[in-house]
Amino acid sequence: MLSSPWRADFPALAVLETQGQTYLDSAATSQKPQALIDAFTGYYTCGTANVHRAQHQPAERATRAFEDARIKVARWLNAACPTEIVFTRGATEALNLLAYGLEHRVTPGDEIVVSALEHHANLLPWQQLAKRRDARLVVLPLDANGLIDLQAAQELIGPRTRLLAVSQLSNVLGAWQPLAELLPLARAQGALSVVDGAQGVVHGRHDMQALDCDFYVLSSHKLYGPEGVGALYGRGESLLQLKHWQFGGEMVRVADYQSADFHAAPLGFEAGTPPIGGVIGLGATLDYLSRLDAAAVTGHEQALHMKLLAGLAVRDGVRLLGAPQIALASFTVEGIHHGDLAHLLTEQGIAVRSGTHCAQPLLKTLGVEGATRVSLGLYNDGLDLERFFSALDQALEMLR
Ligand code: PMP
Repeated sequence: MLSSPWRADFPALAVLETQGQTYLDSAATSQKPQALIDAFTGYYTCGTANVHRAQHQPAERATRAFEDARIKVARWLNAACPTEIVFTRGATEALNLLAYGLEHRVTPGDEIVVSALEHHANLLPWQQLAKRRDARLVVLPLDANGLIDLQAAQELIGPRTRLLAVSQLSNVLGAWQPLAELLPLARAQGALSVVDGAQGVVHGRHDMQALDCDFYVLSSHKLYGPEGVGALYGRGESLLQLKHWQFGGEMVRVADYQSADFHAAPLGFEAGTPPIGGVIGLGATLDYLSRLDAAAVTGHEQALHMKLLAGLAVRDGVRLLGAPQIALASFTVEGIHHGDLAHLLTEQGIAVRSGTHCAQPLLKTLGVEGATRVSLGLYNDGLDLERFFSALDQALEMLR
């Protein structure tokens, strides 16, 4: 009966259950483990203080906890050094940081390469950078399985390419992109690579030194951590390429009225008071995740994935988008508007996402107006899927 041994670690699941809600929208944001809630309670009840500033004891304690979290993120990603981790307010902010920080490397006529499946967060910052610098945004096409077409990439990544920015795992198609083949194409042209790991980081551990990208961004709230926090990993020498982008307190070494001298990464890219409680909470979440049996988590998610795909496959008129490899499926139903379906699923307490999933160009490329997306986390179980399919059948019956 496909039960999740970790469900009880996430108190919200029981609360949602009493409200008659089945949560199947973890790719949008995840529920939070008790370990995170305890860390928040601990931090906010023991006395808050700003980091990296004062000498007093609460400040020292907060700074230590904040920097410990940096070490935990570095370990989670197998970064070579904690100073390769910059805290941001989310994956979106990390990508905007890069688009401004790397602007000076792009000159008129240069090319910035993205793929056809990017989330708006990894499309619009580059699109706008291309406009600012009179550069060209090149879009890598997809193959029939929703993977970036490597043959086309070989032709399109060329001597004018300055940057390659691609997702590790699409939030719509749920397929792992061929980064091991793609990233060397950029490197061979002297271009920097940016990987949007907002979805990928949630499934399994990823080794930055093995992945060999220049930059990798992640979002805490999708990884069972708090909102308002993200992280940018940058390889040591790649971080040196970044120009400072936000200016204010604590990112500066010396400031005068007419000039200033800024810190290097990470502090030089963490202007103003950072989301201290959130960063500490992310650290506690990673501690929790580190204690889990990783193989058991992967096995459970794969079992959910199989059950989800099998259930969709036997239903008439259901068209799956792409070929998902994780417990996520976006689909359309012939003759039925995704909005109508979402409405009837919502009425039955099924929390799924419907629409264009912040990837409007991708949906246009796939020739669909909108889709329904089911996405599961490690806390979901077989019963959640049974409830979903029973609600889906009822909705389809009413709409046909
Ligand atoms: N990239 C992808 C692939 C995403 O799914 C998301 C979140 N929907 C983001 C980037 C943006 O992340 P954040 O919410 O942390 O800004």
